[in-house]
Amino acid sequence: MMQWIDIDGSQGEGGGQILRTSLSLSMITGKPVRFNAIRAGRAKPGLMRQHLTAVLAAQEICNAQVVGAQLGSTELSFIPGKVRPGDYLFDLGGAGSCSLVLQTLLPALWLADGKSTIKLRGGTHNPMAPSVTFLQQVWLPLMAKMGAIATLRLIRYGFYPAGGGEVEVQVEPVNQWQTLNLMARGQVTAMSAYALTANIPDAVAVRELKVVNQRLGWHENLLYHQEVSPVAGSGNALLLQMNFEHLSEVVCTIGTRGKSAEKVAIEACAEMQAYLDSMAVVGEHLADQLLLPMALAGAGSFSTHKVTAHLSTNMGVIGQFVNVAMKICPQDSLFYIQIG
Ligand code: ATP
Repeated sequence: MMQWIDIDGSQGEGGGQILRTSLSLSMITGKPVRFNAIRAGRAKPGLMRQHLTAVLAAQEICNAQVVGAQLGSTELSFIPGKVRPGDYLFDLGGAGSCSLVLQTLLPALWLADGKSTIKLRGGTHNPMAPSVTFLQQVWLPLMAKMGAIATLRLIRYGFYPAGGGEVEVQVEPVNQWQTLNLMARGQVTAMSAYALTANIPDAVAVRELKVVNQRLGWHENLLYHQEVSPVAGSGNALLLQMNFEHLSEVVCTIGTRGKSAEKVAIEACAEMQAYLDSMAVVGEHLADQLLLPMALAGAGSFSTHKVTAHLSTNMGVIGQFVNVAMKICPQDSLFYIQIG
């Protein structure tokens, strides 16, 4: 009889991450998975295009048997086959996040028995998702320290709603996982702010960078305006990056119609300042994105300043697939996450 893992999509955060983490782990462990109440915690529940692309992409790379892969579906079953390394192209057909689909596939392809190349078309700098810059500068360098190599090339930027961005990723199979313990940031080695604009007035970038100068005190020679082209439609993102000896942090806020350039920048500065003030090594978004690779490595640890619903929910989902101890230990104003 089939031993299904039953995943309640309404648990905790109740969003798309529950689906993506489960797909990754189903492919890796070979365990079939059944979902109900997918994204029940969201205003528009069920599979949206980004989630459906993740399901179909996962199906393609492991030749899975899938029932329920339709837009809006709240139930899905996924019986994985063997993960096949190879050359793949996945098109999100709009501005859905390339990063989130990539993060679903990478863990499985890292554990496949050969190299892969993945091309993704969609959004590269989206609200509520890791930007491609965040993956390049923050997440992937840490994955490399853990022995999981993927080289990402940003070919074209894609902003909501037009999308049309493109990335290409070369994936090397993992030889041996390394344990990553992130207990200190180390000294600051560099910082920069990039205001990206595509088909919108230069003044937007100037105003954003002025706020960064005023709020964070970053000198003018650390502030850059980058006009990006070619781009479908228009877009704006403000990227703040700080490199430390042991990791980097990137904060990305997205400009949208009706939101002032100042507000975009104030939000980014507040997020970076909160991270700096906290003394945590790992920022709130990176934290939930380290859990799965650390669980696969069988060990790892870091400090963070917030236990978000994404973090605790992801822990619960991972625990349904793999038998690895995961603990959250509060101490002073920080939380120490211990895997293994
Ligand atoms: P939803 O189901 O909410 O529509 P979703 O499928 O996009 O959305 P979530 O379950 O909310 O997914 O997961 C979003 C992921 O993106 C989480 O891993 C979160 O940490 C990450 N994330 C969100 N914002 C940022 C950001 N600014 N920088 C880096 N990562 C981010």
